[in-house]
Amino acid sequence: MKTGPIADVVVVGAGAAGLLAAITAKQNNPSATILLLDSRQKIGAKILVSGGTRCNVTNERVLPSDYQGGPRHFVKHVLEAFTPTQTINFFREIGVELILEPTGKYFPVTHSGKTVLEALMKESDRLGVVLKTGHRIEGVRKKDALFSLKENSENLLWARRVILATGGLSLPETGSDGAGFRFAEHFGHTIIPTYPALTPLLSEDKDWQSLSGVTLEAELSFFRNGKKQASARGSFLFTHFGFSGPAALDISRHFAACPAQEKPEIFANFIPGSTEESLQNLILSRNGSGQSLKHFLSDEFLLPDSFLDVFLQRNNLGQLSAFSKLSLVNKRKLLRLLRESPLNVTGVTGYKKAEVTAGGVSLEEVRFSTMQSKLVPGLYFSGEILDVDGRIGGFNFQWAWSSGTLAGRSAVRSLS
Ligand SMILES: Cc1cc2nc3c(=O)[nH]c(=O)nc-3n(C[C@H](O)[C@H](O)[C@H](O)COP(=O)(O)OP(=O)(O)OC[C@H]3O[C@@H](n4cnc5c(N)ncnc54)[C@H](O)[C@@H]3O)c2cc1C
Repeated sequence: MKTGPIADVVVVGAGAAGLLAAITAKQNNPSATILLLDSRQKIGAKILVSGGTRCNVTNERVLPSDYQGGPRHFVKHVLEAFTPTQTINFFREIGVELILEPTGKYFPVTHSGKTVLEALMKESDRLGVVLKTGHRIEGVRKKDALFSLKENSENLLWARRVILATGGLSLPETGSDGAGFRFAEHFGHTIIPTYPALTPLLSEDKDWQSLSGVTLEAELSFFRNGKKQASARGSFLFTHFGFSGPAALDISRHFAACPAQEKPEIFANFIPGSTEESLQNLILSRNGSGQSLKHFLSDEFLLPDSFLDVFLQRNNLGQLSAFSKLSLVNKRKLLRLLRESPLNVTGVTGYKKAEVTAGGVSLEEVRFSTMQSKLVPGLYFSGEILDVDGRIGGFNFQWAWSSGTLAGRSAVRSLS
């Protein structure tokens, strides 16, 4: 078996987290040899497809409560180690100007993920990071103070420090196939069970499916055993297989994590932002002066006609009859269904469509001040491989940038 020289730091995985880890390592110790490896010939596939190819780099306001998974204090410390402001400044320094959209999301002014990836690759190259693409790592071992990384039956790489930035299981064609979980498990790390998150919801409800293509604003609530556990508000899209759009994606992790015997259910509030009381006042006290129910709802709430046709018909509310003729019982039913319509979700689409992986390497066994393993000195983690997943809005990249930076900085500082 051929063995090469010993690298100071080997970063496995050249996605968002790995690129930041390698760049920061080199910035902090220009004389250290930093090797960045990726199994794919072309790196950064997720950066390119992200945000509809526009790459939502970060968010105006990033809080630990925007994340699920491991303990909040861990997430807080990592985000503070490299904040969104530092992220925006870093990208400006490497030539990527970001602009803030009214939604709080930051995108490159070019509206292209390619700008982000190219700038990161250029910076990594300028600093002297050695990038090797098409190099898939099959196994990582530690003997005495050195790590050996097996590429194939012929090649073995050696390193003083290893940063695992191999991502999770989402969108596997981009190179993340869960190999990093196996490496971590080999070293005794606990892997919190994984499942797809930020992924569309499935429903066999033909009425909802018939609305494929219709978008509206909604607040979705997730119930477990009849108790509300979580909610997500935002744009909501009906599709031929179920539901998508930010609100559906954000709530999906809760449904995916819940065993069937605990009765996972999702309900939609189609008038988000209004209180029950204000709706009650509007619907129970008004007579609608001869307007049809459909027109009344369309005028009051700006709901799309196609949606109202299906919504009123499926609930036997007679869309053409005058609003004033609606019985009190039916007004109450309307009120309830506008605020809490069952979506009849049967599942979530899998990793193939998921933007992120929930679960992963347990944070209990990682030091939040350095991202170093508590079990194996010299082993570090960053990015989606860890048990942290953010909501839609740039939060997952921010986790990758922050945890990558902290891991890269800590790994080289520990060399001296
Ligand atoms: C369609 C889509 C859109 C998204 N949009 C956004 C968005 O706009 N904003 C946002 O914040 N987040 C977004 N995300 C999520 C975000 O892309 C991820 O959270 C982030 O890219 C994770 O970065 P990472 O470096 O941890 O992992 P990855 O980007 O998955 O990188 C891991 C790398 O490790 C390599 N690798 C794996 N195993 C090995 C091995 N054995 N040997 C060598 N290399 C290996 C892989 O090839 C890969 O390049 C989106 C995700 C998807 C799928």
